[in-house]
Amino acid sequence: MAPMHAQERVLSFEEARRMVEEQAGTVRKPATEAIALDASVGRILAEAIVADRDLPPFPRAMRDGYALRAADLSTLPARLKVIGEIKAGGDPSPFHLRAGEAVGIMTGAPAPAGADAVVMVEHTQGGGQSVGDVVEVLKGAAPGDNIVPAGAEARRGAPLLAPGMRIDEGVIAVAAAAGKTNVTVYARPKVAILSTGDELVNLDAAPGPNQIRNSNSHSLAAQVRKTGGEPVILPIAPDEVTRLRALIEQGLHSDLLLLSGGVSVGRYDFVEQVLEELQAEFFFTGAMIQPGKPVVFGRAHGKYFFGLPGNPVSTMVTFELFARPMLEALGGATPRPLRFLHAKLKTPITRKPGLKRFLPATLSGEFENAEVELSPWQGSGDLASTARANCYVVIAADREEFGAGEWMPILLR
Ligand code: AMP
Ligand code: MG
Repeated sequence: MAPMHAQERVLSFEEARRMVEEQAGTVRKPATEAIALDASVGRILAEAIVADRDLPPFPRAMRDGYALRAADLSTLPARLKVIGEIKAGGDPSPFHLRAGEAVGIMTGAPAPAGADAVVMVEHTQGGGQSVGDVVEVLKGAAPGDNIVPAGAEARRGAPLLAPGMRIDEGVIAVAAAAGKTNVTVYARPKVAILSTGDELVNLDAAPGPNQIRNSNSHSLAAQVRKTGGEPVILPIAPDEVTRLRALIEQGLHSDLLLLSGGVSVGRYDFVEQVLEELQAEFFFTGAMIQPGKPVVFGRAHGKYFFGLPGNPVSTMVTFELFARPMLEALGGATPRPLRFLHAKLKTPITRKPGLKRFLPATLSGEFENAEVELSPWQGSGDLASTARANCYVVIAADREEFGAGEWMPILLR
């Protein structure tokens, strides 16, 4: 029996992406858990990080030098009396600067009362360590120079970071500065991965002459992990309706289902038919892109699913373009927009218009010499050349010729 296909709904890349983002905007936040700050990199912040004290907590010297009154520097060089020294972590309270006085001060030390500027030690001469020494200041200063006022970065109680951020070294620095040893993060969403195809075998099996190894379940699991999800690899589904249906139903118990293969128009591509039997709602059944045109996005049993084309490069690209923002939302992350960089094309490209293309490529060179070149073999199944590529060149759907030296949008991998 030839498969029945869901009513065709092929969108432009932009429409399809917007459709995913729109649905992603409606998902509920996952449960939360508290974990050690040092184990939290890559997780999604589920609490606001709040300043537990003024930041900085005291007026902080930004340079090694002398704390002084800017008004004392109206004639240069100015000769000021050194009344003491404050180290980082030191106590400024013994000092209250009066006209004509200076205090030796170190980076990170609290500025004393009465001082309104710090002059770098490089702009002074003769200043000793001892009280009563005279320092000669060679350069003027404005009030505020080289002193960060208390609370300038944040007042105690002010929110510093909002929930939904992916925790990286920057977030960890802020949380650490706010005294947090534990942070509340969102639970990782479970993502079922179901590869379909009669030709597929597991990695631990010896493939027959006409069989191929199931690489997609593993590349998808890696993408899921990198995006903050927990992959659940299901057994390979044959191109046969009953078993496929049982495995799809199993996959719909996870938070998200990713299918690979079986979404094209071949005689044994049953994925859409089975999903339709399960009363699935289809948001799209194709996108005007290459690779990955047959990509499917829908919802069944209250769970979102993506039918990703089985061609390994298509699977990887369509995960990046469509599944990623949904998985981010299911994980409580604020989905981040696609970020395109630009690089100069090394060799001209000619492509038939009609599809927006995301072609594996290599970005090389730095600064004004950044150049991008398509990976040598452009059939969408060349895994090794894709693995060596470090970006995708984005080729507009409405043009045919792209000359050497043209600035092209690229997506980093
Ligand atoms: P399909 O989308 O099912 O028509 O498959 C397209 C191509 O991708 C075929 O050459 C398949 O053999 C190959 N393919 C499908 N699924 C996988 C997989 N899980 N791992 C590696 N290659 C696959
Ligand atoms: Mg297949």
